[in-house]
Amino acid sequence: MAYSFTAPKRTIIGKGSLASSADYIKELGRKAFIVTGKIVTKMGTVGILTDMLVNVGIDYVIFNDIVGEPTDDMIATGVNAYKQNKCDFCIGIGGGSPLDSAKAIVAMATLGGEISDYVGKEISGNFPPLVLIPTTAGTGSEATKFLCVTDTKKNVKMLLKGDKLIPDIAIIDSSLTLSAPQSVTAATGMDALTHAVESYTSKKANTLTDVYALSAIKRIFNFLPTAYVDGSDEKAREELAIAAYEAGICINNASVTLVHGMSRPIGALFHVPHGISNAMLIKECLSYALDGCYDRFADIARVIGVATAEMSDEAAAKSFLYALDEICKACEIPTLEEYGINKEKFFATIDKMATDAIASGSPANTIKEIDKEAVVNIYKELWK
Ligand SMILES: [Zn+2]
Repeated sequence: MAYSFTAPKRTIIGKGSLASSADYIKELGRKAFIVTGKIVTKMGTVGILTDMLVNVGIDYVIFNDIVGEPTDDMIATGVNAYKQNKCDFCIGIGGGSPLDSAKAIVAMATLGGEISDYVGKEISGNFPPLVLIPTTAGTGSEATKFLCVTDTKKNVKMLLKGDKLIPDIAIIDSSLTLSAPQSVTAATGMDALTHAVESYTSKKANTLTDVYALSAIKRIFNFLPTAYVDGSDEKAREELAIAAYEAGICINNASVTLVHGMSRPIGALFHVPHGISNAMLIKECLSYALDGCYDRFADIARVIGVATAEMSDEAAAKSFLYALDEICKACEIPTLEEYGINKEKFFATIDKMATDAIASGSPANTIKEIDKEAVVNIYKELWK
């Protein structure tokens, strides 16, 4: 079967890569619109970027009004600021939210209209150049054609996509992730793991994404528990930064599946951080999908060393579920109840969440067929 594969035009990866990216960035424009969050700005991370821009004579404006996960209103404010300041390219620096926002801003500054008009369509146009610099190791936004923005009127997370949203330059500098707090390390690491496992067991998996997926899964199982316990471990941070990027490449080409489909509604309605809601769901969702592809789950189990070559695929696949449990425990992932979600309120919204999950299209990528009824059951199982 033929397939196509896309990735950022240029990737600068390794310790100190932000400082050494000046020669590439200066080719993109004269005035940068920097999209970020207030904490990243305060911590001095944005200062490393702006010092570098000053050195090569590039003017800039900082837009740090992205608070939490982006909404349509924040994007509209950003688009206005981009235009008013007459910027000609955009740099997103921070966690997944500023990166997604930067994508949305370059697109909407060009296209006009409401961002919700583009749900379900391929976003396309002649957008300004885009540089993405993650300071967490997880969302993989720096490697993808996707962005997620909340529609504040309908209270749903809109997933938008288009090849033109893939950045011109992705800069993966793990030294920027050293200060990520423990809860963020857990959430983003589990998000990256979910991306890699989902893409390896997606109907759209292909020979190239398989390579990236298994590599990312191995790095995350080996290094996420270490980084969670000791955020200053540079080796662990480096491995996780690479893994998050690899996993981003995976979902860019093989898509996410059931876990993300079911996770977005929990995030939108109960305000659980994206990586945590994925982690809450992953074992239950994959238990459902397991008999759809024992061999694929068995590959994962063998790569992370929890199953031997002699074991049957079914037994190996089951030992992967056990390993998932262990890594969730190591990262202290809460249950819905421990997170403080009200059970009655949750059950009252299951039907809407299942409808939204199916409508997102992601569950249909799962290697095992799934319908709304199965999704409803998995939401219920989370409380057992
Ligand atoms: Zn994700």
